[in-house]
Amino acid sequence: MNYDPTLRRRTPLARILGDQIRRQGPISIEDYMSACLWDQQHGYYATRQPLGSAGDFVTAPEISQIFGELIGLWSTVVWRDWLERPLPFTLAELGPGRGTLMRDMLRATAKVPGYHANLHCHLVEASVPLIAAQKSTLEQYGVPMSWAPDMAQIRAPAIIIANEFFDAQPLRQWVKSERGWTQRCVEIDDKDALQFGVHPTSPMRPDLDVQFPDAAIGAIRESQRPEQFLSNIGAFTKAGPVAALIIDYGHDKTTAVDTLQAVRQHRHEHPLTSPGEADLSAQVDFEELAAEAKKMGLAVDGPITQGEFLGRLGIIERASKLMATNPNKAASIETDTARLIAPNGMGTRFKVLALRTPSLPSLPGFDPIEDIAK
Ligand code: SAH
Repeated sequence: MNYDPTLRRRTPLARILGDQIRRQGPISIEDYMSACLWDQQHGYYATRQPLGSAGDFVTAPEISQIFGELIGLWSTVVWRDWLERPLPFTLAELGPGRGTLMRDMLRATAKVPGYHANLHCHLVEASVPLIAAQKSTLEQYGVPMSWAPDMAQIRAPAIIIANEFFDAQPLRQWVKSERGWTQRCVEIDDKDALQFGVHPTSPMRPDLDVQFPDAAIGAIRESQRPEQFLSNIGAFTKAGPVAALIIDYGHDKTTAVDTLQAVRQHRHEHPLTSPGEADLSAQVDFEELAAEAKKMGLAVDGPITQGEFLGRLGIIERASKLMATNPNKAASIETDTARLIAPNGMGTRFKVLALRTPSLPSLPGFDPIEDIAK
């Protein structure tokens, strides 16, 4: 990755942020990322449709239809056997992108008796262009649908799915400086280019010295603040059973490393290069996610790797069947399937964590001896 500040592009948002920093001082990483993703006029998600091969990045449901089909199957098993077939129930998705995952879920579950007739589909999406894309993809399935920018309207009993949602949440970062741990910030250099720095006035975090006693100067601790979303899920469980499936790239254990990344046109670049014009995301800290979920009164299954989870759901069997019925597409089906479960790629970099009302047993796919595809 190139850290040369002369490569920073003077996007419209870079100018606006540069002016703001010159007038009012450095901004936090969280505010920088919020502006880059959600600024009304220039924010990445607020103004564009970024997904797919013509966009900036590709997600698992965009790679293969099997991903959504298996999660659809998973949701019908949860509905039938875990939620004791509640009638009706909410199938909610956080950050549905182009609606591809939900489309494949709905398509694969259309023939499951009673499933569509009882579901209300609720999409949590804040991007206006993506809501339009989701509507045109999903309205043909004839199930009741609603959209909202946050989770407030979800009602139990509910199944909640989130693929690559948490990695996109504005990140807080703390850096170990000579003075101790404090907030990392975005400031400007003497040529007015954006650069990372140590926030001059934000409070110190002595607790991080205790958590990372051996951290070197410059070490970074980060958090997506998952509690904002988990507190909602925790609250729903008071009204009825809830099961949530969270899939994202990330690590099992909290570490002191900087994982903020920018992707534009399928290429990684320095996160300060193209404010508003690149996707910004960071690895999900699954240890923190699980700990926060437990604090909200939820039980946790996993995390396990995406490869393991999809394997248990029967990805190989499903791919073989699809290849047999579409022999002319067999090669691409095989390649795409392999990509989702590759041990040195998405199969291990992506993890799956399930959250549930504590009275429910472990969710399907998290118990090594069962195989729900049978
Ligand atoms: N799940 C999709 C898309 C992932 S991209 C897929 O796997 O293909 C992230 C998605 O989450 C986008 O749809 C983005 O607009 C949405 N999003 C991110 N943060 C959000 C927030 N805080 N509130 C609502 N939607 C959000």
